[in-house]
Amino acid sequence: MTKVVITQSIYDQAPQLLAEAGIPYFYHQGDTWSPAELKEQIREATVVVCLLADKMTAEVMDAAPHLKLIANVAVGYDNIDIPAATERGILVTNTPDVLTETTADLAFALILAVARRIPEADAYMRAGKYTRFALFPDMIGTDVYGKTLGIVGLGRIGTAVARRAALGFNMKVLYTADSPKPDVERELGVIHVPFPDLLPESDFISIHVPLSPRTRHLFTMNEFRQMRGNACIINTARGPIIKEADLVEALQKGLIGGAALDVFEEEPQMHPGLADMKDRLVVTPHVGSATIQTRQKMATLAVQNVIAFLTGQPPLTPVNPQVL
Ligand code: NAP
Repeated sequence: MTKVVITQSIYDQAPQLLAEAGIPYFYHQGDTWSPAELKEQIREATVVVCLLADKMTAEVMDAAPHLKLIANVAVGYDNIDIPAATERGILVTNTPDVLTETTADLAFALILAVARRIPEADAYMRAGKYTRFALFPDMIGTDVYGKTLGIVGLGRIGTAVARRAALGFNMKVLYTADSPKPDVERELGVIHVPFPDLLPESDFISIHVPLSPRTRHLFTMNEFRQMRGNACIINTARGPIIKEADLVEALQKGLIGGAALDVFEEEPQMHPGLADMKDRLVVTPHVGSATIQTRQKMATLAVQNVIAFLTGQPPLTPVNPQVL
């Protein structure tokens, strides 16, 4: 019998779709399983619906000899060893597009929050420090409107951020990507530059590349030294793209103006030096796609992939279609 294992809580209506399709499933809604528990729980599984905290390594896959599909509830799939899955004939699916605008909204919220020092201002009010109006309050910020935004990775989310910046905030937008994007250049006036040029020319740098061996530690002390002294870096992609210890040092030394992070190198931990930073740092717990509408769409798309696969239809969003 087909066994679908859903490793963590997702939008409850999505498993319901499996029930309606007559597909039995096991829905775990407790804490994230340890690697050993994960191996034990998916031992009989044909399909695993998982999230980023589930590390689908070759070893985990080998513990599930019947496994045929891993449906990730995320667009990024760095929690899954794709070559190992492909080698074993296991299809992997993800959830692109449905979270693009929501994640771009968060990236822009972080740009504004770090520039206008919203967390510091909020803490100031709550501490009862607002006793008189001052032209230069302690938490004076910097402009966003009309400034230069450097986008690292002009894919789906990077383009959605570029649109907000160019059309909503009259920003000059520079970008890097593996290949130039002439359509987006025409639509939004964005400019393709080599990565080393983007660093010194941007007031804000927003990261939107996937985590890969090429992008791991893309930002180290070397890159922070080349950025403008008042520039802010925003990361809503994946934590290990920034070498966090170097970011802490760069912030402490005032090499850059600030940082806003939704993702962390050793997630869910963050570098203790970040926790000690009192200002010029905004941190959120990986909530890029965390709106009710988008989380519903992600869970539904993941389950639609499962249903398509188990009923012999083409999956909607395959990552390694070559195994089909
Ligand atoms: P995407 O459409 O695949 O875009 C990725 C872009 O990165 C592409 O334009 C690609 O260039 C470019 N790229 C890849 N490697 C590069 C490199 N070494 N240097 C420069 N550019 C490079 O992906 P997406 O849907 O926008 O998502 C991006 C990432 O955001 C995901 O992988 C995920 O990790 C992260 N994410 C985080 C959250 C959150 O909750 N914080 C939510 C959603 C997504 P080409 O187009 O030329 O190939």
